[in-house]
Amino acid sequence: MKIKKHKININIILIIISIIILLIAFYITSIIPIEMCSGNDCPTQTPSSGVIPAQDKSPGLTIAYIGDAEPESSSDVKELTKDLNQVIPQSPTGRVDAIFFMGDMTKISLTIKAVESSDVNNVPVYFVIGNHEAQSSDETAIIRGRYSASIFLLNPGPPGTDKTTYSMNVGNMHVINMNEYWNGATDDSYLKYSSTDGGYIPDTLYDWMSADLSKTSDWKIVVGHDPLYPKSKHVGNSLDANKANRDKLQALFESKNVDLFIGGHTHNAGVQNVRGVYHANTGVIGPGADGSGDGVASISYTYTTANSLIVTIKQEDPTWSTPRTLITKTISR
Ligand SMILES: [Zn+2]
Repeated sequence: MKIKKHKININIILIIISIIILLIAFYITSIIPIEMCSGNDCPTQTPSSGVIPAQDKSPGLTIAYIGDAEPESSSDVKELTKDLNQVIPQSPTGRVDAIFFMGDMTKISLTIKAVESSDVNNVPVYFVIGNHEAQSSDETAIIRGRYSASIFLLNPGPPGTDKTTYSMNVGNMHVINMNEYWNGATDDSYLKYSSTDGGYIPDTLYDWMSADLSKTSDWKIVVGHDPLYPKSKHVGNSLDANKANRDKLQALFESKNVDLFIGGHTHNAGVQNVRGVYHANTGVIGPGADGSGDGVASISYTYTTANSLIVTIKQEDPTWSTPRTLITKTISR
C-alpha cells in the first residue's frame, strides 16, 4: 500500500515537471523576435496572409525612389554607396520604409553590393525592370528571384509577369511596380521596338492594372521605367513611341484617380502635371550622374500626411554637403 502511494506521487511529480518544461519552452519561443532580413539577404519565404501580419496603413511611412544607377566597376559601387548613405538623412520624414530602384541598375549585382555596403542595408529594396534589364535575361532573372523574399505582401501581376509586375502597400500608399517590358505572354524581358527600346503596355497588363487600381482607396502610385511624357532625353522612344498606347494608359490613370506616376530612363529629374496626374522622374544617382543628363544625384520621396500625398525630390548642389530640394508637390484630394 505504502509503495503504491509512493509510485503515484512520483508520477504526479513527473507530469508536473513535464508541464513546467513545456510552459518554459513555449515562453522562450514566444519572446524571441523573428529576425528581420535586409531584402537582399532574406531567406526565401512565400508571402501569404497567413504569414505576414496585417500591414500598417497609418500615414507617415516613406518610400525613396532611386533613378538609373548603372554601376559597372568597384569605383562605381563606391560612388553609389556614398549616395545611398544620403537616402535616410535627406528623407523629409527622417525615415525610409522601402526603396524602389527605377530600372537600369545594370549591373544589378553591383547595385546590390552598394546597398549592402550602405546605411540602407536593412531597408526593403525593390527593382523595376528597365530597358537595360530587358536586354539581359540574367538580370531579369535576379529580379524575378527576389519576389518571394519581400517582407511587404505582394499581389502578383498577370501570369507571365507575375514576379516582375506586382502591387503592394507601404502604409496608405498603394504602389504598382509595372514591368513595361513584357510581351503579354511568357517573356517579361522583352524589347518591342529595337535592341535597346521597347516600353509598351499590352492589354493584359492594362486589364490587370485596371482591376488592381479599382480595389483600393489608398493613395495610388505607379512606378515604371519609361516615362509617358519624357523631357529632354528619349523623347519619342519611351512610352510615347506609341501614342495611342501611351494615351490609353494616361486615361486609365485619370479614370482610376492615380495620384502619381514615377519613371526613370531620361536621367532628368522633375515633376509635371498631366490633366491632374503627377508624373515624376527620378533622374540619376551614383555613377549615372556623369553629365549625360543631370550632372548631380537625385533622391525622390513620397510620404503621406492626414490628407495629402507629398512628393519631394532632393538633389546634390553640387554635393550632398549642400543639398537642395528640387521640387515638392503636395497632392490633396
Ligand atoms: Zn533606360
